[in-house]
Amino acid sequence: MINFTVGPVQSSDAVRAIGAEQVPYFRTAEFSELMLENERLIKKFAYATEDSKVVFMTCSGSGGMETAIMNCLNKNDKALVINGGSFGQRFVELLTLHEIPFTEIKLEHGKALTLEHLAPYEGKGYTAFLMQKHETSTGVHYDIEMVSDFCKRNNLFLIVDTISTFLCDPFDMTATNTGIMITGSQKALACAPGIAVMILAPSALKRVGENKCCCQYLDLKLALKNMERGQTPWTPAVGILRQINVRLKEIETMGGADAEIARCANLAKYFRDKLIEHNLPFEIVSESLSNAVTPLHPTTQSAYEIFLKIKDEYGMWICPNGGEMKDTIFRVGHIGCLTESDYDQLINAFIDLRQKKFI
Ligand SMILES: *Cc1c(COP(=O)(O)O)cnc(C)c1O
Repeated sequence: MINFTVGPVQSSDAVRAIGAEQVPYFRTAEFSELMLENERLIKKFAYATEDSKVVFMTCSGSGGMETAIMNCLNKNDKALVINGGSFGQRFVELLTLHEIPFTEIKLEHGKALTLEHLAPYEGKGYTAFLMQKHETSTGVHYDIEMVSDFCKRNNLFLIVDTISTFLCDPFDMTATNTGIMITGSQKALACAPGIAVMILAPSALKRVGENKCCCQYLDLKLALKNMERGQTPWTPAVGILRQINVRLKEIETMGGADAEIARCANLAKYFRDKLIEHNLPFEIVSESLSNAVTPLHPTTQSAYEIFLKIKDEYGMWICPNGGEMKDTIFRVGHIGCLTESDYDQLINAFIDLRQKKFI
């Protein structure tokens, strides 16, 4: 199978080799050193300030989203949240569950975020802003510079879910004054699922220190204290943390975050150019694309039927959508260990389906 989904994605041979090894004991100086190296490289790739801290939580990306909310916000906050798809909706549900006062900015699927969306909330006493940098469900990449300026003007604490855009699109944690960023091991980090990576700027560390977190397992005070010596309070997903180490060093050797972003951008462009070249019956449905994924509306067949056909008859996974987008949108990812020739195979499958009048 070739995997063109947005996670889990294909891993490099070196990362996969780690998965075949015995899981080592981890309360050792060697593992601590590996964790501190992971912290250093993650901070470097996200352009975080020297005094920022990284934690590796054993949970998926959604666990990282909930951790951020539980540790950094409370009932005295007044949050703004962008809801443009399934992941924005998840933030809305989490804020509701944890009883954080908030206002939702709801976007039509596929639409970019504009200054008009933010304008009504200038100078209205908001304290925090939550967004996906890239809403993976609809493939819309938001203008974080615009949000960042809004947050600086209004003194808002910015929480950014970069889960599907970190290492795919440029992100500068310092320039954007992001308080906390979240990513996951199975997106562009291209490792097994199971680790949420979070970077906390000093503004987030201050909030964590002043907040009470009503969940021991996800308490960032404990995670941060342990991470001072490269450890975790509980047994982490040791094997995945070792994979992350191999992967981060791989990226470093290949030229760092910018080179990895360029690689992803090239694959996205290659695929999008081929779609046009072959005049395939799919429309790109996002006003603002990320390099991570191309969201497509097939004009002649159900998106889900195309997903099934490609999976069962051509041995490839494209990424189906859920809910109301199930029949109208599928997505093709550009993250993980993929090559141009993988895209040639996918394009050939689409051409074959058109010849057979399936699409
Ligand atoms: C994948 C994803 C998540 C959720 O991650 P899980 O690992 O499935 O919990 C959250 N936000 C965005 C933007 C994502 O792409």
